[in-house]
Amino acid sequence: MIPVPSPDRLERAQRAVAAAGWEALLLSAGTDLRYLTGYNAHPSERLTCLVVPAEGESLLIVPELEAPMVKAAGATIGLRAWAETEDPFALVAGHLRKVGPPGRVGIGNRMWAEHALQLGSATGSRAELAGPLMAQLRMRKDDAEAAALFEAGRAIDRVHARMAEWLRPRRTEREVGRDIAEAIVAEGHESAEFTIVGSGPNGASPHHLLSDRVIETGDLVVVDIGGVTEAGYFSDSTRTYVAGGRVAPEVIDLYGVLQAAQEAACRAVAPGVSAAAVDATARGIIEQAGYGANFIHRTGHGIGLDVHEDPYIVSGNDIPLEAGMAFSIEPGIYISGRYGARIEDIVICTADGVQRLNTGSRDLLTLGA
Ligand code: ZN
Ligand code: ZN
Repeated sequence: MIPVPSPDRLERAQRAVAAAGWEALLLSAGTDLRYLTGYNAHPSERLTCLVVPAEGESLLIVPELEAPMVKAAGATIGLRAWAETEDPFALVAGHLRKVGPPGRVGIGNRMWAEHALQLGSATGSRAELAGPLMAQLRMRKDDAEAAALFEAGRAIDRVHARMAEWLRPRRTEREVGRDIAEAIVAEGHESAEFTIVGSGPNGASPHHLLSDRVIETGDLVVVDIGGVTEAGYFSDSTRTYVAGGRVAPEVIDLYGVLQAAQEAACRAVAPGVSAAAVDATARGIIEQAGYGANFIHRTGHGIGLDVHEDPYIVSGNDIPLEAGMAFSIEPGIYISGRYGARIEDIVICTADGVQRLNTGSRDLLTLGA
């Protein structure tokens, strides 16, 4: 069952729009719109636009042929369906002009450029990015969202727990990846969103997806997988496995450093601690062991209706963590041309510390021996 968001979310958005001095917030199809209304619009050339004015009624402007889907989603917002030959941009402008003369509007960061530019021409308003405002609204997960993230976490843990069914030497990354993607859906997601199986040298490429490389005995294999649940929330978890035989002692050492860094960064999470400090905790341990130059990405990213969202766990982000913030802790060490390793859990900052959403073993497990 997909929960319909409480009207409180739209009210909070409207207060934030007024505080920003904007005429309105304009959101097209995407997760910001879903967050505020519960409606998961399909992005296309036909404009869907939620208008949240600083005061007065919010209005969802949708293509007529998609209006039944808004009702089916249970969204309880004023609706204006536009017929195929109407100009939806003029409808947005008309709703804004009820409020006052053209001023500044906030537009969703991921609105298509063709929509943003046509809205600018039709309304005469000056557009600013609404990303920071939406991040403020979305960063602290409420209880229903936390529960949805827990459910996603348990589902992806069940997939990792079954990895021995698929991961073994002499299979290609693509064959293993196909089986994993099927299991992501079977274990409780609506869809598999990404499947990284980085074996041997491919493991040193953090965003490698799948290839036809045949997994060899003794390969380190980075498996970073996630899906989206019916409620719209993402899972994202990485474990590093050994395929078949043994690995060199230096690999065991490297993995020990990584595991210690990931553990320490998870334990460092608490309200009031900065995102940058959590990154520094993981990075410090990896640097001290001499692998600083091999940890080439931030420690983590927020997660929710998007797989990457605020807060980012990265040097320079001094935002203090607060209860309800959900994000990944995923340090990695990459030896170019040879192998890589990463461990990733999603965690939620709680009133007095942290709770992990992924709880499967983080040891270097050998599969398919
Ligand atoms: Zn991941
Ligand atoms: Zn991640």
